[in-house]
Amino acid sequence: MQYDPENIFAKILRAEIPNEKLYEDDHTYVFMDIMPRADGHCLVIPKTPARNMLDASPEQLAACIATVQKMGHAVMKAFDAEGVTIQQFNEAAGGQEVFHLHYHVLPRREGLPMRPPGTMADFDVLKDQADKIRAALA
Ligand code: 5GP
Repeated sequence: MQYDPENIFAKILRAEIPNEKLYEDDHTYVFMDIMPRADGHCLVIPKTPARNMLDASPEQLAACIATVQKMGHAVMKAFDAEGVTIQQFNEAAGGQEVFHLHYHVLPRREGLPMRPPGTMADFDVLKDQADKIRAALA
């Protein structure tokens, strides 16, 4: 399957659509998920094109995982979490909906299930949560 440069995350990287940015380095970019399944749910993506894990280079995967770990620590601190769930889906049959490689980072607490998918966040709440994560990264 080909990488489509018109996917929504490619548009976020090109600043063609708004997003709540949390972090970037030379190789990766991190922003809030617009339909969070937990408070602090964020997405780590490579800055270069990759459809998913299956066509990504080892360098892209290594850069993403290093940032996933950094964000895991940040969301644990920001939300006083007890754990972190990392999700990553490949192709539609694997649960992928946006075809630019991404890792979901979800802070978790005992006994608190993830919310069902598909509910749009309140943007003020999302910004407050992003502020907490940015402060934890500082
Ligand atoms: P997946 O492809 O792993 O199934 O999920 C894609 C994720 O991207 C979903 O969690 C969804 O909420 C999120 N998402 C879809 N469109 C946008 C968008 O325009 N902005 C942001 N920030 N997140 C999005």
